[in-house]
Amino acid sequence: MGYVNTDLNEGAVPAETGATGIRRVSFHTLGCKLNRSETDALAAQFAARGYQIVPFRQPADLAVINTCTVTGEADAKSRQAIRQAVDQSRATRVAAMGCYTQMHPQEAAGLEGIDLLLGTRNKFELIDLLPELERRPAGAPLVRITPTGEDRVFDEAPSISATDRTRAALKVQDGCDYACTYCIIPAARGVSRSRPLADCLAEARELVQRGYREIVLTGVNLGAWTAGNLVFDDLLEAVSNVAGLRRIRISSIEPNLITERTLQLLADRENICHHLHLPLQHASDRILGAMRRRYSFADYRRKVDRAVELLPDVAIGADVMVGFPGENAEDFEALAQALADLPNSYYHIFRYSERAGTLATALAGSVDPRVRRERAQVLREIALEKQRAFARRFVGQTRTVYFESRTGEGRWSGLTGNYLRVLVSSSDDMAAQLRPVALLRESGGSLHGALLQGTLSRGASLPGASLPGASLPGTVAA
Ligand code: SF4
Repeated sequence: MGYVNTDLNEGAVPAETGATGIRRVSFHTLGCKLNRSETDALAAQFAARGYQIVPFRQPADLAVINTCTVTGEADAKSRQAIRQAVDQSRATRVAAMGCYTQMHPQEAAGLEGIDLLLGTRNKFELIDLLPELERRPAGAPLVRITPTGEDRVFDEAPSISATDRTRAALKVQDGCDYACTYCIIPAARGVSRSRPLADCLAEARELVQRGYREIVLTGVNLGAWTAGNLVFDDLLEAVSNVAGLRRIRISSIEPNLITERTLQLLADRENICHHLHLPLQHASDRILGAMRRRYSFADYRRKVDRAVELLPDVAIGADVMVGFPGENAEDFEALAQALADLPNSYYHIFRYSERAGTLATALAGSVDPRVRRERAQVLREIALEKQRAFARRFVGQTRTVYFESRTGEGRWSGLTGNYLRVLVSSSDDMAAQLRPVALLRESGGSLHGALLQGTLSRGASLPGASLPGASLPGTVAA
């Protein structure tokens, strides 16, 4: 999974029906895309009940921090965000929820000024707890943390989880049954649970009706989605049949769970993006074994080679963990070489960090933190070069870009189906528009382009596409 640190600062909704003195609510998210999608669902629920959603760090009656515990650094950032909310105003009620509070409830409850603690399975109780929250005296936090347990019921959530104007995350799965030795997430989120197919499809249709053209399928271990005899590929195929849905993106999928059928669906279905995020973690089979990952490096290589064979333009990302216990100089060299050689287009490099409660903390061969930092830096340089080389391959081509937002420099930024970041100059409001763009040059891994008229579909040519100085091949892709 990729990790982000974002504020939710969407458009304000007039307060009308809030049942308590709390009217203005701000949200802050740490961690993965799944966390982000849950924050979006909460914000949508509050907005629908008439609360005003304001940017984090602006005056609010309630500040909500959706925390993360994937690394020691994530814990520290979660505590920092809680303190920032508390320090901002004594009048602001502060609620913290999610993986950090689930795993460290006592530590979180000891943070001065915190009013409410919710576990990973209690996030959607927030809105109903507000009257009780307001009645409580300061200094006595209300705590609702349900043990993650073993039941496989997908927790109820508000049906629409999107407040963004362009891209909606559709949460279809939660929890994980794997036991990777470095990972605390199964303890924080519990066993794998799948959302029923009918619910997934109903939300996908609703999102399309609301104008969303791109949906990102999201889960902790997404490829583990199941319903009776159905598996993830059945879900992907069913979602791709939703009328009017222009793009589906798979957020991240374990390499052992991606199948030939998954790849064939990407090849055959025009609305499934040529983009895969396949966590690698390491290239040494000894280290992969110590991590209890469920594939060898050769397995991984076979999957990505097959993906590129079927989908020559596919973007393949990977998470990579450096400095795991037992990683020697030879393992590191092999990893660096593998990252340079693989056909992947980008990598997220993480330094191993000890997490209390994980098996890896008991392994011999701890790598000096300074060495971890140095090795991570070497891999980040390789990662940047891979990203740039992938982007440069598309200079001179035309691609459909789904525009999201305006950058600080006044350009519009968006993504191609194969995850190329594209910037164009335009004075129009381009948000949520799918437009053909001539890709002119690469800079720092992004592409600068020029808007064209007309529309493109995968495998179709663009009539009359021409731009002085740009060489435009006749075939273009979404
Ligand atoms: S697959 Fe492994 S790394 Fe991913 S959530 Fe499950 S245990 Fe953690």
